[in-house]
Amino acid sequence: MSIVLGAIADDFTGATDLANNLVRAGMRTLQVIGVPQAALALDDVDAVVVALKSRSCPVREAVSDSLAALDWLRGQGARQIFFKYCSTFDSTDQGNIGPVAEALVERLGSEQTVMVPAFPANGRTVYQGHLFVGDRLLNDSGMQHHPLNPMTDADLVRVLSRQTSYTVGLLARPTLDEGSGTAREHLETLREQGVRHVICDTLDESDLEVLAAAVVQFPLVTGGSGLGQALPAEYRRLGWLAPVENAGRLVPASGVALVLSGSCSRATLAQVEHFLSRHEGFALDPLALAESDAQIGQALDFAREQLFGGDTSAPVLIYASAKPESVKAAQQRLGAARAGELVERALAELARALVNEGVGRLVVAGGETSGAVVSALGISELRIGEQIDPGVPWTQTSIEGREAPLSLALKSGNFGDVDFFSRAFDALPQERLP
Ligand code: ADP
Repeated sequence: MSIVLGAIADDFTGATDLANNLVRAGMRTLQVIGVPQAALALDDVDAVVVALKSRSCPVREAVSDSLAALDWLRGQGARQIFFKYCSTFDSTDQGNIGPVAEALVERLGSEQTVMVPAFPANGRTVYQGHLFVGDRLLNDSGMQHHPLNPMTDADLVRVLSRQTSYTVGLLARPTLDEGSGTAREHLETLREQGVRHVICDTLDESDLEVLAAAVVQFPLVTGGSGLGQALPAEYRRLGWLAPVENAGRLVPASGVALVLSGSCSRATLAQVEHFLSRHEGFALDPLALAESDAQIGQALDFAREQLFGGDTSAPVLIYASAKPESVKAAQQRLGAARAGELVERALAELARALVNEGVGRLVVAGGETSGAVVSALGISELRIGEQIDPGVPWTQTSIEGREAPLSLALKSGNFGDVDFFSRAFDALPQERLP
């Protein structure tokens, strides 16, 4: 059986965000990290999201990685390709949204694609081509200060026009209001005029539904995870996708539970404090890690005793998360990059050792931290399960040397409610012990 949707995401957490929405809309979804090198079993998979690191890399690299992902996804029979980027249209005048979209359209032998970055549920809307974050225009939302891709213009037709030599068009709200037939006709008129890229207005979920119906037959669509939420209903309407009862069903989890936190974001700090008021934890300190590996050994001893010594059902936390004053102090002594590396390496090593010894349920907090743990564990694919909190699903992956799959939740810094660390484990169906 072939997959229905093949997605190419320009970063890791963006890929998970889309995959999470696809599962919620009824598609059984696999996230792969980079273009797979070996054949994958996709019998019970409806959508594959390839996570790339192409948001801020040089244009040529972004284009060639995206084309490699496209070729692989087409090889799996994907009926529609989705190029996923951030709902704040993160890019620069050089790219990479324009050049990647252009290359994908061309390789697919198509003539047009749409840009639907909006995610109304998260306050990202587009009106007359202007992107809003909540009640602020994009260039007044904080995104104008982004270190890698400052967004200083909210007019997406203008922004995209600087990234491509093709004409950029607009599908505006009044046309959407007339329904998907009129929207489709407008897109067709633009296509006849040679308009290759069309920025689409979106104010709410019903606009997303109209758009999904208008573009479901397009070989390529592009945008944020909001559109991903609306497309599966159209695939079912066309008979491409069979209804499934629980697209996020995972194998019952087994093994002891560990939380590793390298995030110092405000939400994570509150989650750490909340967890420590109920469970045991061990704090890592970058200054001690800079001296020697002794603290890694102490953390290991602590975790072994807690996880395997007595009550094996309680989760345990190992964290470097610290308040801004201590982070600043460590950074002043070691440099920000070295402090970060020391923590990431320690957490990655702990993950490798403890998963090897029987951790089967693992929550990791922090985007960079998650990247370090995923690569230390040699993970190349994640089956997406149920959402714990918006944007963070449980996932499962096979690990060499481990019989049952590892259940893994990767939480970026500011995601999740205050009780996320303990509630995550409550939300995970577990194998019944005899
Ligand atoms: P977030 O998703 O919250 O941004 P990340 O994991 O992406 O979290 O980034 C946090 C960075 O801070 C990581 O590089 C991590 O190693 C580093 N870090 C964690 N704890 C400390 C600390 N106590 N002092 C200095 N840096 C730290």
